[in-house]
Amino acid sequence: MTIIDTHAHIDELEDLSGALERAFQAGVSDIVAVSVNLDSMKKLLDIAARHQQPKIHPALGIHPGMVKEPTQTEALDFMRANIKSAAAVGETGLDYWYKWVRKDEVERGKQKESFAFHLELARETALPIVIHSRGAWRDCLSMTVASGVKRALFHWYSGPVDILAEIIAAGFYVSTGPSVAYSPESRRAMTEAPLERIVVETDTPVNYRDGEQGFSAEPKDVTRAWKALAQLKNLDEQKTLETLNANARTFFGI
Ligand SMILES: [Zn+2]
Repeated sequence: MTIIDTHAHIDELEDLSGALERAFQAGVSDIVAVSVNLDSMKKLLDIAARHQQPKIHPALGIHPGMVKEPTQTEALDFMRANIKSAAAVGETGLDYWYKWVRKDEVERGKQKESFAFHLELARETALPIVIHSRGAWRDCLSMTVASGVKRALFHWYSGPVDILAEIIAAGFYVSTGPSVAYSPESRRAMTEAPLERIVVETDTPVNYRDGEQGFSAEPKDVTRAWKALAQLKNLDEQKTLETLNANARTFFGI
């Protein structure tokens, strides 16, 4: 079997070559490597050029939590200049999770400005876009629809199911990770989402609290997301995997 990790911050791994080797042994054929700022964009383009197994597909973008960095303008210029080397735009989006952000109109304005730039670049280049929407699901969906972008992925979707229905109706995708094994919000969303619009990911190196110990994710852990999703939806594991792989290949064009 092979499987695709559609969202990993592999430049943040301490043991990158070990993690890539373990991923390859576990059947991971492809990794979509998302960036968060100027530094990670540069690192990921370099990593993608140096590793073939698994195949690394860099996504260029600035995380909503990073838009205040002094390199923001330089990062947007770098992204535009290097977008031909990318498989996708992202990770971008909006994050209203923290109360201070909900109270800070200037911060939200900065996030929206950055997200709008990413949406426009995705529309111009016809590349898929990977969206972080935590606590900002409604604004993310409205801006995406208004932008005219066709291929949008709401990564690690764990928001309200009414907005999820609109995301699906608009033709967009959602992803889930190992949290689908235990998180009530992830499980509710993935119960509602049709399998044909789901892809799996790890958001490496996120720490998951599954089990007694918890674990820091590597791309190989995408198999946990796949198996937990199949179990949640009461579907055959192999058939589920075939659909997940087909979804990821269609969405990213890889
Ligand atoms: Zn991420």
